[in-house]
Amino acid sequence: MIKNILTNKCPNCGEGKIFKNSNIYFNFRKAEMNESCPKCGFKNRKEPGFFYGAMYVSYGLTVGQGILTYLMASPFFSERFDLRIIWVIALVLILLSSFNLRISRILWIYLFKEYRN
Ligand SMILES: [Zn+2]
Repeated sequence: MIKNILTNKCPNCGEGKIFKNSNIYFNFRKAEMNESCPKCGFKNRKEPGFFYGAMYVSYGLTVGQGILTYLMASPFFSERFDLRIIWVIALVLILLSSFNLRISRILWIYLFKEYRN
């Protein structure tokens, strides 16, 4: 299942793609999704506004990544709270933003895959 999440696969059949473009990692083009799975017809968008909840997943990921970046970058700075570290964190988070957008929606779909309509 984790492999299916990381490879943008349908939670129902594991074959169809959720996002039309298969590169979910580093892709700053518009995130186009399939309304439903091209293989099995599983509905990705359950209702209008379904993906607002994915913003919370995205927020959680972003906070986690920010903390991780801080912990990894802080040994390279002499002072404990060097403000230049903010730019490092911002850069990492901007680079990860396209991945976060997609992975948070995929996780959201997987979270609610049992509720079919
Ligand atoms: Zn499917």
